[in-house]
Amino acid sequence: EELILAGMTALVTGAGSGIGRASALKLARAGANVCLLDLIDERTADVEEEIRGMGRQAEFYDVDVSDPVRMERAIRAAADRFGRLDIVFANAGINGTLAPIEDLTPEAWDDTLAINLKGTFLTVKNAVPYMKAKGGSIVVTSSINGNRKFSGFGMSAYSSSKAGQVAFAKMAALELARYRIRVNVICPGGIETNIGENTKSSKEVDKIRIPVVYPEGSQPLEHGQGRPEQVADLVWFLASDRSSHITGTEIYIDGAETLL
Ligand code: NAD
Repeated sequence: EELILAGMTALVTGAGSGIGRASALKLARAGANVCLLDLIDERTADVEEEIRGMGRQAEFYDVDVSDPVRMERAIRAAADRFGRLDIVFANAGINGTLAPIEDLTPEAWDDTLAINLKGTFLTVKNAVPYMKAKGGSIVVTSSINGNRKFSGFGMSAYSSSKAGQVAFAKMAALELARYRIRVNVICPGGIETNIGENTKSSKEVDKIRIPVVYPEGSQPLEHGQGRPEQVADLVWFLASDRSSHITGTEIYIDGAETLL
């Protein structure tokens, strides 16, 4: 594989699982050293080992992306340790609590918005000071949910956070172009990851769940279930100079799910 990211440093949030993990590995395979941010648990440790096994540097930072003080500290530590920051993948996210609006608590709303939307802001805010001298690429993980498609009963907080990320990324692209920092946002459809594990669903939501039926003769690729590695290929492209004139764009990676 071509080492088009050789010598660069990438920072990935939510790097311990799913899309973040596959992307961290892909960026490392392309030559990048990687700072991994996540809440550390038993399944996150081996990403660091795997990247070091490729002969790249990797360092895990145990940090909640919604915590302003710890994010500032972690990103400063990462930039100091690696000496530069070229690529940022703001990807950590949760489904949070799925509940009808009238039952959704303000605390549950805040939790989803804090991790998905404020976490993206804090990742970009704290990375920019280290990127602006040389330029670079920022990629944000939003979703089809809250942009082209609104589905899944009880997902008002999640969808709001995901739509907010798209607006934020576009404003960031305009603001940061002066530093030659590109910002793009990806909107995956269903991807096989661990995101469902920590989803809290109210009983009402389970009652209302309706099976998906596609129009006769049409279906999305892979029945709407992509793999993290397929998303990682897109992140790799947007991270590298292969996409040097692409900024401020939202890219759907959903196997045509939103056309149906
Ligand atoms: P995942 O659960 O497999 O991975 C998400 C990672 O983020 C986990 O390792 C988790 O520990 C970490 N994380 C959660 N809260 C955090 C916090 N407060 N601070 C730091 N790290 C935290 O899920 P995934 O599907 O890979 O999710 C990645 C992103 O993709 C999310 O933003 C999600 O909304 C988005 N997305 C996923 C799908 C899908 O179908 N899986 C579809 C569209 C968008």
